[in-house]
Amino acid sequence: MGNEGLDIGNLESLEKSLGAVFERKDLRFLVVDDSGTMRRIIAKALKDIGADTVVEAGDGMEALLKLQSAGKIDVILTDWNMPKMNGLEFLKSVKGNAAFKDIPVIMVTTEAEKASVLEAIKAGARNYVAKPFTPDVLKAKVEQTLGIAK
Ligand SMILES: [Mg+2]
Repeated sequence: MGNEGLDIGNLESLEKSLGAVFERKDLRFLVVDDSGTMRRIIAKALKDIGADTVVEAGDGMEALLKLQSAGKIDVILTDWNMPKMNGLEFLKSVKGNAAFKDIPVIMVTTEAEKASVLEAIKAGARNYVAKPFTPDVLKAKVEQTLGIAK
């Protein structure tokens, strides 16, 4: 009885697949929208995908404060039209801050705002989701953004 069942190649692929699972652990999102209903819809979809933490903010100003206090954030999803500081202004603030500029930002837009997506991409947005969206579409966009699309 030895190690004849132990195959190094299998071990390596096992470690790789475990690594892929672990990479998906402790996923933390910041969801910014002035609509509490929309925040709840997005937060639920993110939890269904496997998000561990969803931090919420009602406008860009509050989102900047949450970024300072929330610890690690993996992905930001932000609405466009919001009081105090809109999504584009918030995006520009995030991209202009050395501590946050590498956090991928997904714009959540209405059909009418789709034409403005290019402006957001130029300002550093990684991706966008048009409302209304299905959980599957949101999942695909998040996985694309995190580079874990299959
Ligand atoms: Mg809004």
